[in-house]
Amino acid sequence: MTDFAATRAQFHIPEGVIYLDGNSLGPMPVAAEARAAQAVREEWGEMLIGGWNKAGWMAMPRVLGRHVGRLIGAEPGTVVIGDTLSIKVYQALAAALAMRPERRVVLSDSGNFPTDLYMAQGLIKSLGQDHELRIVAPEEVEAAIDEDIAVVMLTEVDYRTGRLHDMAAISARARAAGALTVWDLAHSAGALPIDLAGSGADFAAGCTYKYLNAGPGAPAFIYVAPRHSDRALPALSGWLGHAAPFAFEQGYRPGEGIDRMRVGTPPVLQMAALEAALGVWDGVSMTDIRARSIELSELFIAEVESRCPQLELASPRDPLQRGSQVSFRFEESYAAVQALIARGVVGDFRAPDIMRFGIAPLYIGEDEIRRAALILQDVMENRLWDDPTYRARAAVT
Ligand SMILES: *Cc1c(COP(=O)(O)O)cnc(C)c1O
Repeated sequence: MTDFAATRAQFHIPEGVIYLDGNSLGPMPVAAEARAAQAVREEWGEMLIGGWNKAGWMAMPRVLGRHVGRLIGAEPGTVVIGDTLSIKVYQALAAALAMRPERRVVLSDSGNFPTDLYMAQGLIKSLGQDHELRIVAPEEVEAAIDEDIAVVMLTEVDYRTGRLHDMAAISARARAAGALTVWDLAHSAGALPIDLAGSGADFAAGCTYKYLNAGPGAPAFIYVAPRHSDRALPALSGWLGHAAPFAFEQGYRPGEGIDRMRVGTPPVLQMAALEAALGVWDGVSMTDIRARSIELSELFIAEVESRCPQLELASPRDPLQRGSQVSFRFEESYAAVQALIARGVVGDFRAPDIMRFGIAPLYIGEDEIRRAALILQDVMENRLWDDPTYRARAAVT
């Protein structure tokens, strides 16, 4: 059994804070501070450029990729770290579209995160081949997969509602129709068990600063199924994805397997924090994480629904249809979230009317869930949100 008291002790959570926003930015693992300081002082400071070899900087994207791969059920050597998730979505989609040259439709859903859709729009424009981005309601995705579809591009867990797609069923349906899949695991990696190898997914990408707790600006990861890894061609053909980066050849030759999905110089300091953050997962079972996440989410929903009749559950009621977050609808959600934050409960707001609470068992327990519900009751019952200071929108919401 995973020892959640032990994982909780590995995080720094500021005094008086109940942190239910790890789905947006995970809290700081205690070990990240020392590891990042070591990377700055002992590696960069002392080794200077020698760090690329002596401290293993150049190998980190693949080494850490293997570690992330274990958390998402990927085959060894199929995951590499780098860039941002937006870039990795672009790379995966570009590679997938190139593998279906006779088809012109990218299928996604209206619950997808905007950057995924924006990157698809930008890619389609620069390809100039009249591709279409077809967006349907999340429940209609499966039925919309037909022989016109080149790529099905979805986020497994909806960032607003937490609704969970059936990755295996949709991937099977896509494959039967001759389409490829690109899965965004932003709200899945570290949140629930994923079996990439068994799911039939073709490409996947995700970020490491949400449930993986690697810090603001931490790099993303990309997965390419082994059956495609020597055929998928990177549209962003950077030198570190070249077969021989230090031969400095004039022409691009793709590197072997997943290495070709690297682009440029990796963010070494941020990867040091990622390395420490991944250490927290040693001895943690994703099955235990899922069981605990469901238990805590069910408790939170029951507590909030009995205390706050003003709120409407926006997440699926069936826990098997949810990721690891719980969302509620309320017309003054923005102000209510600000009032909560002022009282130490950190959740977040997503337009137009959603308040979102991430449930991360690594550092959240029953006591925090019960206290958060009581504070939410106070905010709602006493209309504490009804205050102009809570209505003023900050740049980042
Ligand atoms: C958080 C998130 C992103 C963020 O992309 P970045 O490039 O890291 O800013 C992208 N897609 C989804 C689905 C997300 O939830």
